[in-house]
Amino acid sequence: MPGAIPLIDTPAAMRQAVGAARAAGRRIGFVPTMGALHAGHVSLVERAARECDDVAVSIFVNPTQFGPGEDFARYPRTLAADLALLAPHGVRWVYAPEAAAVYPPADATRIVVEGPARGFEGAIRPGHFSGVATVVCRLLLAVPADVAYFGAKDWQQTLVVRRMVRDLGLPISIVVCPTVREADGLAMSSRNAYLSAAERARATALNAALERAAAAWEAGADVAAIEAAMREPLLAAGVAIDYATVVDAESLASPTAGRSAVALVAGRLGTTRLIDNRALPPRSDGDG
Ligand code: AMP
Repeated sequence: MPGAIPLIDTPAAMRQAVGAARAAGRRIGFVPTMGALHAGHVSLVERAARECDDVAVSIFVNPTQFGPGEDFARYPRTLAADLALLAPHGVRWVYAPEAAAVYPPADATRIVVEGPARGFEGAIRPGHFSGVATVVCRLLLAVPADVAYFGAKDWQQTLVVRRMVRDLGLPISIVVCPTVREADGLAMSSRNAYLSAAERARATALNAALERAAAAWEAGADVAAIEAAMREPLLAAGVAIDYATVVDAESLASPTAGRSAVALVAGRLGTTRLIDNRALPPRSDGDG
C-alpha cells in the first residue's frame, strides 16, 4: 500500500516544499482540481507523473468562480475518497487550503481576462472566468511548478488560463490533456454525480451532439447546418440548450478556412448543468 500523501494547507508551506524540490533539481508537475476526483483527473495526474519527477495536486472548491444561485454549497466534497484515489499514482503533495488561505480577510484583488473569457461560459456565468483566473494565479503562486496540467473538457477555461499565463508572464508551461469519457461517451465530470438515473441516460445527448457536429463538419456543412444537427439529439433528450455550435478553436469566433475549430455544447438536465466539446480539424472551406 502506498503511504499517506502529505496534506498541505497554506501557500507558504506549499511554496517551501515545491521550492526545495526544485532547488534539488526536480521537475514539478501540478494538477489543480476542485476535488470529487474521477478518472479524468487521474489522467492528468498520470500524465504529470510521466513527465515530471514530483506531482502536486490541489483540491480546492473555489468560491469565486461560482455565481449566486450556482452549486457552490452542494458541490461534492469527498476528500477522503480523493486521497484514496490519488494514493497509487505517485502524488507527492496534496494542497488543500481553506478559503481564508487563498482569499485573506479583506482580499480585494481579482484577475480579469478578456478575449477568450468573453462569450459562452463567460456570458452565461458572469464573473466565472475572473474567479477561475484569480484562483489559478494564486494556486500557481502557491505551487511554483514547472508545468501545470488542465483538461480539454473545459476548453474555454484552457484558453483563459493560457492567455493569463502568457499575459502575466507566469513562469510555467501549460499542458492540455484529452477528455476522459464514460463508456457511453459522457464526459466525466464531478457534476455527473448530481444526475438522476434517468437524467444520466439522457446526458449522452451531449456527446451525440458532438458526434453530429464532427460528422457535419467533415461533410463540409456550414455553421447553421451543424448547429441544427447538434440540436436534434439534445432536444430529443430534453436538454435545455445553452449553446451548441462550432467556432474557431482559439478565438472562439466563427470558424475560418485552414484553422482548427471546436464544437461546443452546454445544457441543463433538471438542475444539473453540463458542458462538453470536441476538437475539429482544419478544413479548406472554413464556414462552408
Ligand atoms: P475540476 O475539478 O472540475 O475543476 O477539474 C480539474 C481539472 O480536471 C480541469 O483542468 C478539468 O478540465 C480537468 N477535467 C475535468 N474533467 C475531465 C475529464 N473528463 N477528462 C479530462 N480532464 C478533466
